[in-house]
Formats: sequence, structure tokens, C-alpha cells
Amino acid sequence: MRCIRTDTGCFFKKIEERLNSKTKVHTRKDVNEDFPLRGAVVCGRCDTWLTACWSKGRGTHYPYYLCRKRGCDSYGKSVRRDVIEGEFEALLHSLKPTPGLFTVARKMLENLWSHRLATSEARVKNLKTELAKTATPDQTISQPDFGHRD
Ligand SMILES: [Zn+2]
Repeated sequence: MRCIRTDTGCFFKKIEERLNSKTKVHTRKDVNEDFPLRGAVVCGRCDTWLTACWSKGRGTHYPYYLCRKRGCDSYGKSVRRDVIEGEFEALLHSLKPTPGLFTVARKMLENLWSHRLATSEARVKNLKTELAKTATPDQTISQPDFGHRD
């Protein structure tokens, strides 16, 4: 069993177990899911699944994972999403690959990837809409004629 320490405690305690077992990873149809690792990360203190939320700070919302188990030392302590995702990737690098691990890890990374892809596709779509507003397709641009002048 592996344990990775973060500022707020020990997460991913059981993840290696999970990865090596035949346990099905929660897969979501919604590729816009903001927290692809939800259902894969437990609190290292109480073994409860971490919940995910958006936390407000300085005008913007930041994505977090946190433990919601009453009485747990880590109760209410949040970890930034990118910290968890970064550590997850680091953990994958440190694991000895087994065929089972590849299958599950691949699925999880696909979820992460689809989420990022969906985000950038939405961005492209928005840009195209903006572009369509500023230029009409049948608009002809007159070429300046430098050749001959009357
Ligand atoms: Zn906990």
C-alpha cells in the first residue's frame, strides 16, 4: 500500500490496491465532468471517498477535493484539484505496471484527457462563434490596384 503525503494529510492510500484489483472505476458519460478523479481518491485518515467542490476565493472559483467525514482529522480540509491530479500522475509513474493497472489507469487518464479536450473544444467553438460575428463569409475585400492609374 502506497501513501502520498500532501499538505493536508495522506491521500491515495488505497489507490494502488484499487488499481491492482478488478474494481471498476467510476466512468462518467459526461466528459465535462470537472472532477475526473472523484471516486478514485480516498482520505488517507479515514478511508472515505473525497468529495469535490468549487471553493470561492478572491472573486473566482477554485476546484478542490475534500474529506467530508465528521470527526476525521482531515474533515473539511481541502486539497487543490491540480495538486491531486499532479500527484496522481506522479503516482502512476512510480507504480510497477501490471496488465490490470494499465487497463484501469488508462481509463482514468482517458477521463482526464476527455475533460481537457472538451474544455478546449468549447473554447474553439466560442472563438468560431465570435469570428462568425465579426466576418461574413461572402464579404469581398477589394484589392488595391497599384498597376495602372488614370
Ligand atoms: Zn477523512
